Amino acid sequence: MKYFQPNFSHIYVERGALDYPLSQIALKKFSKSKVIEVDHYKDIFNRTGQDFQVQKKSMKLILAKKTEPFLYPASEMVQEFGTPNVYYNTPILNCLYNCDYCFLQGMYSSGNMVVFVNESDFMDAIKIKMASLNLTLDPMVVSISYNTDIMAMENIIPMASRWIDFVKTQKKLLIEIRTKSALFSLIKKMIPHENVLLSWTLSPEKIAEEFESTAPPFNSRLKSAKEAVEAGWAVRLCFDPIILFDGWFEIYSQFLHEVFREINPSKVRDVTLGVFRMNKDFYKRIKKREPTSTLFYDNYEIKDGVVSIGKKERTESLEKLEELLSEYLPKSKILIWK
Ligand code: SF4
Repeated sequence: MKYFQPNFSHIYVERGALDYPLSQIALKKFSKSKVIEVDHYKDIFNRTGQDFQVQKKSMKLILAKKTEPFLYPASEMVQEFGTPNVYYNTPILNCLYNCDYCFLQGMYSSGNMVVFVNESDFMDAIKIKMASLNLTLDPMVVSISYNTDIMAMENIIPMASRWIDFVKTQKKLLIEIRTKSALFSLIKKMIPHENVLLSWTLSPEKIAEEFESTAPPFNSRLKSAKEAVEAGWAVRLCFDPIILFDGWFEIYSQFLHEVFREINPSKVRDVTLGVFRMNKDFYKRIKKREPTSTLFYDNYEIKDGVVSIGKKERTESLEKLEELLSEYLPKSKILIWK
């Protein structure tokens, strides 16, 4: 596989995080890594003078204990779940992959990965929040893979499966695990649970090769998503971000045809659609570093702190895609960031 497999030559561990089961799993997995004990993860992660892209080429792993807050209200850039009770958490900071359009490169100065090993504190915070919400009609929704791709780490630190086990004990909780990984096989033996939403981001091969080159290719992701659907998991397909270029509509038409030739659309919970968008401060920070990706040299509009394609072009493009998608799914199952 051409996509990134880390070796983590160095692992930094907070002294207070050393004895946690997840730390022990990681240290065992990378037994040849140089282990360096530190007082606080920010001493490494927040150092000045770091270069995100240089560090991504040789990522280091940092094992740490998170302190509050353990939950954040969901960003408006995320599609709705039809409930006000939508949150995200950050069990991992940064991602194994390095998509050109990823906001993480503008959010963090470090390209290294932080894994917070005190998972029970994250879970307890959810239980406390649930007790304070009115969940009579809707569940609480938590995206656990927001600042990372948690499933991509499953063969290194099996956090996704541990979260699925937790959800099974909480009737009014739905978790979304968004991924580009091809590692469904690692949770295949688990019994699907209706309160776990597995969301695969899929892009046409041309887009995946150009802008998502460190993630598994389109076919591998499609295969994983298909297996999950067929095994009975609730699966969301994320066509997001849609990248607009000359001839984009033909490429996306062909792509959607390929996706739904493999995956029965009636078995998909829903799909999301959205174009490239990013918080303006993150965008500016990335742009300052003169990125090589063509994505950062388009004419964008800035509105309400978000950089994106101009409203007219964006709406027209998304409506065309919505029409196309409605040949496969009812419009009620197509969630759009407009
Ligand atoms: S998979 Fe998601 S989180 Fe990871 S680099 Fe790509 S866009 Fe960012």
